[in-house]
Amino acid sequence: MSETERFRSRSYDFILIDKMACPSFLKNLQIKKFEKGRIYTYIGEVVVSVNPYRTMNIYGKDTIEQYKGRELYERPPHLFAIADAAYKAMKRRSKDTCIVISGESGAGKTEASKYIMQYIAAVTNPSQRAEVERVKNILLKSNCVLEAFGNAKTNRNDNSSRFGKYMDINFDFKGDPIGGHISNYLLEKSRVIVQQPGERSFHSFYQLLLGGSEKILRSLHLQKDPKAYNYISVGGQLKSSINDGADFKAVADAMKVIGFRPEEVQTAYKILATILHLGNLKFMMDGDTTLIENNKVVSVIADLLSTRSELVEKALLYRTVATGRDVIDKQHTEQEASYGRNAFAKAIYERLFCWIVDRINDIIKVKNYDAKVHGKNTVIGVLDIYGFEIFENNSFEQFCINYCNEKLQQLFIQLVLKQEQEEYQREGIPWKHIDYFNNQIIVDLVEQQHKGIIAILDDACMNVGRVTDEMFLEALNTKLGKHAHFSSRKLCATDKSLEFDRDFRIRHYAGDVIYSVVGFIDKNKDTLFQDFKRLMYNSSNPVLKNMWPEGKLGISEVTKRPLTAATLFKNSMIALVENLASKEPYYVRCVKPNDMKSPLLFDEKRCKHQVEYLGLLENVRVRRAGFAYRQTYDRFLQRYKMISEFTWPNHDLSSNQEAVKRLMESCGFEHDVGYGRTKIFIRTPRTLFTLEDLRTQMI
Ligand code: ADP
Ligand code: MG
Repeated sequence: MSETERFRSRSYDFILIDKMACPSFLKNLQIKKFEKGRIYTYIGEVVVSVNPYRTMNIYGKDTIEQYKGRELYERPPHLFAIADAAYKAMKRRSKDTCIVISGESGAGKTEASKYIMQYIAAVTNPSQRAEVERVKNILLKSNCVLEAFGNAKTNRNDNSSRFGKYMDINFDFKGDPIGGHISNYLLEKSRVIVQQPGERSFHSFYQLLLGGSEKILRSLHLQKDPKAYNYISVGGQLKSSINDGADFKAVADAMKVIGFRPEEVQTAYKILATILHLGNLKFMMDGDTTLIENNKVVSVIADLLSTRSELVEKALLYRTVATGRDVIDKQHTEQEASYGRNAFAKAIYERLFCWIVDRINDIIKVKNYDAKVHGKNTVIGVLDIYGFEIFENNSFEQFCINYCNEKLQQLFIQLVLKQEQEEYQREGIPWKHIDYFNNQIIVDLVEQQHKGIIAILDDACMNVGRVTDEMFLEALNTKLGKHAHFSSRKLCATDKSLEFDRDFRIRHYAGDVIYSVVGFIDKNKDTLFQDFKRLMYNSSNPVLKNMWPEGKLGISEVTKRPLTAATLFKNSMIALVENLASKEPYYVRCVKPNDMKSPLLFDEKRCKHQVEYLGLLENVRVRRAGFAYRQTYDRFLQRYKMISEFTWPNHDLSSNQEAVKRLMESCGFEHDVGYGRTKIFIRTPRTLFTLEDLRTQMI
């Protein structure tokens, strides 16, 4: 057997590769990808997937049939196997399960989540119950709508999700889907007003302009040309591989099927149009007075928002402030007006997105399920969320995203170790302490009450008067200067990697990331002047009004500061992790083979980077710190009984366990083995390879 063939036979599962180091790991991915076009491998029960960047004929009905009801190791690695494992655990053992998909942008997370949903839809509801079909249909169709409003073309991915998504699917006692719930995280709303060169805003805008009928566009005072609108043309990339016109119709159909009412869809279009018009507003100064240059746009916006022009104009040019008992209108400077307008555009888009998610949730929530009558209602959760991000310039967004990944890594450590521990306990195998890097210290660095970076940031934002990003950095230095995972230029003047005085560095579990503090305060405060909230609430369009309930409050009634962006995100992460921790986890780790979207190129440097940042080697280490391999006695015998005279063709010992013991002793492996109640545990992969070799010699 040649070395490569040997490698290939073992490359099935990373845990079984003997010396686990980065080169062999990469080699394995590469062999998979190039020689066989097999894009999936396992690390234990973790699926590693390499984006093939071409259509693969491996998701059809036939393939689904092959995986349905099978055990994980009986078929070549596949997403469907993990989907089936999660489904089986849920159905057989009434366990809530979850599938956590991670990887960098363009690695294939969202596609993976859709294939998982398709698989679940295909293997359930054999009796074709109408209500179950309805729920399944809505779950599948919801992707199309969420992608229209939450995805955009970026330089990394033509259809990049600009939000994190977690979807629970609820099942009845028969194992059929009866409802679901979607949570969304941190929509990248800055994209509404500005995009990098070569990128676009959210698909929804272009879809409306290129797919909306003349009549619709006329009613929204829009022209067909995206170039006419400042907000969506800064990136300069107006065409993409996507057919916006056709997608517009698909999304409109999907919204209808899901159950959005016509006036709701209309309102969504009106909000999109409002944003497009807002971007074309021009402010000017006339002496001390700030004015709007193109007042016609104001009346268009007023019409779209079902309100009066004066109110729109006032909200754009003034803010109401309470000074003691008096309430006065304070005029914006040109700069403030422009800031306010942008904040308004971002806020109404974000609110629209959240409202769409809420509406879908309302429609698919489990109805009329009585656990007493029907038994336990179980859940499979699917998490499609941004992986670690390290760019040239890392800002508040990367800080949040990387914090999210620290939380997920912490969860992974807890759950995998917990699972291992539970299995050892169940099997009566003595538990050995596993040495691994526990990233709790970094999680604390970010989220700890009073002391963490978020708390320090919030403190800075609470200060009255002008607070600058630099003052925030000072506070970080004072309070965290001694922390092993924090550093800044001021603290470490000799550190060449920290170029600017505005940089700080976090030593993440996956490596160092340098963040620039510029914009932290502003993004965290995320100020939207109250006047805009009231403007929306006072609209005579009930759909709009309902989206902005907080606009009900009068100026003197608003006493509580809204929570900051970082704190809201932190709270949502804590809730997410709590939710995931209550479930049995399955993992999909997606790797992007190159930056060219090429089906041929395996860029070793880029892949190495991801293997490190996804914590994949750590995965393997944690998994292998105990026993690398475990199998039930009967299945183990089925595979290896030909090796030993005691077990071939059949054994006459008192139990399968005894037989396996005899077999292993006869090969001299007794020191590398643990015997559990139902399973044999093998510590090092080498033993397993030798067994495989012995087996091959016999057959
Ligand atoms: P992510 O969600 O991780 O940013 P996507 O799932 O959107 O990435 O995938 C990016 C692109 O890669 C897709 O639009 C598709 O062209 C391609 N792709 C991803 N996964 C697959 C797959 N399993 N088969 C074929 N193409 C894929
Ligand atoms: Mg995605």
